[in-house]
Amino acid sequence: MRKMWIDGAGVDSVSDTGQVIEVIDPATEEVLDTVPAGTPQDVERAVAAARVAFPTWQQITAVERANLLHQAAARMREHFDELVRLLTLEEGKPVPENEEEMDWSLNTLDYYAELGRHIRGSVVPSPDVGQLSLVLKEPYGVVGCIVPWNYPILLLMWKIAPALAAGNTVVVKPSSVTPLTTLRMVELAFDHLPPGVVNVVTGRGGAVGDALVVHPDVSVIAFTGSTGVGQRIARATAGRMKKLHLELGGKDPFVVADDAPLDAAVEAIAYAALINAGQVCTSTERVYVPRAMLGQFAETLAQRVSRLRLGPGIEPTTDVGPMAGESYRAKVEAHVADAVDRGARVLVGGRRPPGLARGFFYEPTVLTGVDHSMRIMREETFGPTIPIMGYDTFDEAIALANDTEYGLGACLYTHDARKVHRFYEQVQAGTIWINDPLTDNYAGPFGGMKMSGLGRELGLEGIEEFWQTKHVHWDIEGGIKDWWYPYREHV
Ligand code: NAD
Repeated sequence: MRKMWIDGAGVDSVSDTGQVIEVIDPATEEVLDTVPAGTPQDVERAVAAARVAFPTWQQITAVERANLLHQAAARMREHFDELVRLLTLEEGKPVPENEEEMDWSLNTLDYYAELGRHIRGSVVPSPDVGQLSLVLKEPYGVVGCIVPWNYPILLLMWKIAPALAAGNTVVVKPSSVTPLTTLRMVELAFDHLPPGVVNVVTGRGGAVGDALVVHPDVSVIAFTGSTGVGQRIARATAGRMKKLHLELGGKDPFVVADDAPLDAAVEAIAYAALINAGQVCTSTERVYVPRAMLGQFAETLAQRVSRLRLGPGIEPTTDVGPMAGESYRAKVEAHVADAVDRGARVLVGGRRPPGLARGFFYEPTVLTGVDHSMRIMREETFGPTIPIMGYDTFDEAIALANDTEYGLGACLYTHDARKVHRFYEQVQAGTIWINDPLTDNYAGPFGGMKMSGLGRELGLEGIEEFWQTKHVHWDIEGGIKDWWYPYREHV
């Protein structure tokens, strides 16, 4: 059994319940390892350690803090292959995708290490001469970081890198599906930080997550996960004035314009919809194609998808790995069944692969004949499905793209600059990708509009989330002002 990481050491649960969480390899359905099923008492211990560590971490120089974070990134590089392998086994996606995740993660750490030592605030013009108006950026204190299983290291790093660089300490709750790489990474790469600066408590959302969210000494909750749990966190914290940073679900559209090169658009959609078996918050979940192109486009895409190789992520030949668990696959099956019941046609996939008896596999699936009455076009499917719908005008395509409660990302394929302009002006989404779906850029902000969340990660915005702002107004001479009491002497 792995241990949690609290106050700079691996520890068992303080509650001694003996309860554990089994971590399953989704490609084999075998138990990889176990972690303690933490309790609110473990959260209490971790928050206390983070609170004690906070003044030290806040007060060390920004350069020293940056150096310590660069060292953590260097240690991740040293153990790159071990971390990638463990991540592949517990999360399921193919090795190249996990190498990319690890690479993005340690680069994010280096990026924020530098950003944190460049900014302390600003000086704004004062209302009068002989004064200084300082706008100071200060850390909040203890940040609670709650992350999902689909990119467990990357999404964690988007939180802890800026939070630590900003001078906060953190308590992390990984997903119960993927806690192993997080624990290993922290003991390998972060054990040189002062004890209590980084803490990891494993356990169920309803026990550990809930306790972290409502803890009075946790000032910020940085959460990535489903919109339902995000709403629950918002309700639980409504009376507590905590800073909430919520990265939630999506139902991203991909619009193909009538000038789009067929082959490139097909390749782009296969990648955007099927990377990590479609389990990306910004996965392409709905495709809109000009009606005149629909038949040929759908057939070409179905042929392309049918050539992808399904298998365990750890196998070098694998293009698409398993889904993360049985419940996630069951949701995909329910969405496909609902679509077919309402008249959709499955061009390829639509079933568990007959050749893979073990593992949570589902064949990449292309559907046509879909409309917005179907669950697969309205609810987050989070699986390897590509429903394609025709449109008549570009205005209609934009209206369809916006016909959702979500607003995380949106993709367009075109070389028509007028269409690009209309798309990014009119589509309500936090990220717009033109001809290059799902690319990340540490220097640019990422996050959702509408029900996809509050706040932004990455870029300057991503560190601003972990600072509170203080305005210091300083009159240097400090003489008596003529607008002070008594008023009658001024008339
Ligand atoms: P989830 O909401 O079920 O769980 C996310 C985390 O919240 C887990 O660690 C879980 O244990 C914890 N949790 C559960 N109940 C809790 C509670 N009551 N209080 C506090 N924490 C609790 O999501 P998931 O299934 O792990 O991940 C998939 C979801 O995440 C999808 O909806 C996806 O769109 C979303 N996601 C969003 C982004 C983004 O950046 N917007 C990125 C990746 C994933």
